[in-house]
Amino acid sequence: DYCYGGYHPIQVGDVFNKRYKVLSKLGWGYFSTVWLCIDLRSGRHVAVKVLKSGAGFTQAGQDELTLLRCVTRNPLKGRIVQLLDEFKIAGVNGIHICLVLELLGPDLRCWQVCFGNPGLSLTCVKHVITQVLEGLEYLHRHCKIIHTDIKPENILLCLTPQSSSHPPGGAIQTYSSVIKTTMLQDPVIVYYFYAEAAGKPGNLDNITVKIADLGSSCWVYKHFCQEIQTRQYRSLEVLLGSEYGPPADIWSVACLVSLQTFRFVGLTISIILDHLAHIIELLGMIPVSVALSGKYSYEYFNHKGDLRRIAILRPWGLYEVLVEKYDFLLREASLFSDFLLQMLDFLPERRTTAAQCLKHPWLKL
Ligand code: ADP
Ligand code: MG
Repeated sequence: DYCYGGYHPIQVGDVFNKRYKVLSKLGWGYFSTVWLCIDLRSGRHVAVKVLKSGAGFTQAGQDELTLLRCVTRNPLKGRIVQLLDEFKIAGVNGIHICLVLELLGPDLRCWQVCFGNPGLSLTCVKHVITQVLEGLEYLHRHCKIIHTDIKPENILLCLTPQSSSHPPGGAIQTYSSVIKTTMLQDPVIVYYFYAEAAGKPGNLDNITVKIADLGSSCWVYKHFCQEIQTRQYRSLEVLLGSEYGPPADIWSVACLVSLQTFRFVGLTISIILDHLAHIIELLGMIPVSVALSGKYSYEYFNHKGDLRRIAILRPWGLYEVLVEKYDFLLREASLFSDFLLQMLDFLPERRTTAAQCLKHPWLKL
């Protein structure tokens, strides 16, 4: 990937644009490498995302910039990563677009790995999901943006919780040393990091998260790509190749919730036919009109709307799964399944919106 059109080779100590000095690597993705830098002008820590230089990546980078600028201009921007600056660098592998972003902490997946089973407390999950839904409400309603890639890797922890009177410097220092010693995978260190960041040792319910990575996002009225979303979080309409819109993000949130609360991977199977089979077992029959509505429908369904190649389905509804398999109390199970089922409506136009989800009693329970 470090070739012409690929990543830019970067070393600790490099200074970008005469202003951002590289302290360590924060992460990387298909499009970019991301670096912890200090802004020599303000003394502030920032994350600099350096995109690959190939034509496709440059176009994607331009799109990401346009979307981020739109998000950053709005006064209600709180739950989405903020763009602080932008510049280009010319390197051995070509011209790279660089985005200077506010520095955030580790992502939800890393966190999940660190905390092991049974993972985060239900209170904590509700807290995180509320913030993700607030972010989506803002993206969908105010910015007319579909994120298209909601998954644990793209939900990042904030280093300066709003509820805390704790000076942010402490958290950032801890975070840098956590990164430097590359012990991010060590649950004890990460636990202390969060406890400190939350300003309340032993209590992780106060954490703040933001939605990151608008790298594959698009406008509600202008899509860049037909096939969106990471496979396991892909909504029914996208699996089938039908029209998609903001409701596709809501489906991903339901997958995220079930994954975070009870490690339920049923909705996140990677072979499409098995994935569809499981969706039907859990959520009931897909009406023929919906099943056959997409470009790929006939790859998976026959003309009667029955799944191809899978003869036997074992229906086991979400409510029953919660009670029988995961020992939920009846009241919790009924509220929770109601919350999830509304987000997993087969018809995108009937699926609940982020604003409606936020009013659901399960989040308040
Ligand atoms: P890509 O578009 O290449 O997937 P991302 O925006 O997802 O790039 O960033 C890749 C990784 O870099 C993320 O998974 C995360 O670990 C890290 N990262 C990205 N943005 C930030 C940020 N603002 N603060 C801290 N780490 C970040
Ligand atoms: Mg990413």
